[in-house]
Amino acid sequence: MTYSLNSKKVAEASRAWLLSRGVRIEDIAELTYFLQKDYYETLIMEECVQSVEQVLTKREVQNAVLTGIQLDLLAEEGKLLSPLQEMIENDEGLYGCDEILALSIVNVYGSIGMTNFGYIDKIKPGILKMLNDKTGKHKHTFLDDIVGAIAAAASSRIAHRKQEEREKGGH
Ligand code: MG
Repeated sequence: MTYSLNSKKVAEASRAWLLSRGVRIEDIAELTYFLQKDYYETLIMEECVQSVEQVLTKREVQNAVLTGIQLDLLAEEGKLLSPLQEMIENDEGLYGCDEILALSIVNVYGSIGMTNFGYIDKIKPGILKMLNDKTGKHKHTFLDDIVGAIAAAASSRIAHRKQEEREKGGH
């Protein structure tokens, strides 16, 4: 039998897994708002929520969400092989595969997402602060980058759309 995967199942799982790890769409949208509010005076949260929703419909994004959360969970349960277990569990400095995976999200909406991704990773506002808290039992080595990347991609999407609107408006 040919292997075939139900796309709806992947989409639903990625949303459910985010939620199960304490990340709501609104939390990501807040990061997007944070990134874009200074550029667009009229920007409202609703636009950011919609943009995040759209980013989450992309299969590349869903794949990264599922892969990253799965690795975080396995690290949390101590089920990875050594030395990968220790590296992911401790969010080791030289381990950069979490960021590389997140780039597959940033790249969906072009290169301007890169700047936003780097910036938000440095400032760590809102939900990113919670995800970076190393004192709790949860390991979010992959998820912090994934959430930052979704917010950055949603920001790029808004920037592209605003540009299109301006061009259509003839100014
Ligand atoms: Mg990380």
